[in-house]
Amino acid sequence: MSTSAYTGRFAPSPSGPLHAGSLVAALASFLDARVHGGNWLVRIEDIDETRTVPGAADGILATLAALDMQPDGPVWVQSQRKPRYQAARKQLGSHAYPCGCSRKEIADSRVGVASDGAAIYPGTCRHGLAPGKVARTLRLRVPDAGMPDELVRFNDRWLGPQQQHLATEAGDFILQRADGFWAYQLAVVVDDADQGVTDIVRGADLLDSTARQIYLQGLLGYPTPRYLHVPLLMNDVGEKFSKQNGAQAIDLGQPLKELQRAAAFLGLDTAPGHDRESFWRLALAAWDARFGAR
Ligand code: GLU
Repeated sequence: MSTSAYTGRFAPSPSGPLHAGSLVAALASFLDARVHGGNWLVRIEDIDETRTVPGAADGILATLAALDMQPDGPVWVQSQRKPRYQAARKQLGSHAYPCGCSRKEIADSRVGVASDGAAIYPGTCRHGLAPGKVARTLRLRVPDAGMPDELVRFNDRWLGPQQQHLATEAGDFILQRADGFWAYQLAVVVDDADQGVTDIVRGADLLDSTARQIYLQGLLGYPTPRYLHVPLLMNDVGEKFSKQNGAQAIDLGQPLKELQRAAAFLGLDTAPGHDRESFWRLALAAWDARFGAR
């Protein structure tokens, strides 16, 4: 590994094979790391073990390698890092609190809907478990509406200035789920910090999570990386292209075509490239022209 000032990463969940939608995020993060002379890491985000498909992680890594995208360091696997998440939870102290509310109770309270579509937590167990309740989940206390640190702002390198009011747009969010698994928001923040990630390039479906992650980084004393969220590939009926709605695995019989398709979706002109070498040359030049200076 070089000692570059840039570390990027691609962090797939192994819930199925690499598909055209995840290839877009992989390619963008890879190009950005290369253009900045940085390291590009791959992390397997299998923290939600209920969604892990056996063999999917190896399949994703093999597909990336077949498409010339080799990580610059060891592949980290979230399910092996639970003690670190536990340590972060300890560090959060009373910013985290046990909650005994069920999903239905929260939905029924109708406090509001977070920008990701989930019901906003009404705060029932904020000051201690409500009478008669047993701890089910662990939540992070976000600043009350009107507090100075309630508004999280960041600049997205693709989308421009962003902001989110944590209390009204996210609410107290889950750090540990009722089934005991750590939540993505906590795991991703701890891992990005432990891997020294300086630049996060990922799909715009995660834009909404970014303010929560920045808030957590602050509480844990971690630096905040730069962010770039790329548009999401949609299927024919306008849904996110994803494993959940049956997206096909990348066709390794036509690797150049798959790469060109992902690059074209990102608006990179690689059309004249007839072989992989020229594809990479043109894709890097096109990304550099748009995002080389950050
Ligand atoms: N594991 C997440 C996913 O596959 C990506 C997380 C991230 O890039 O922060 O959607």
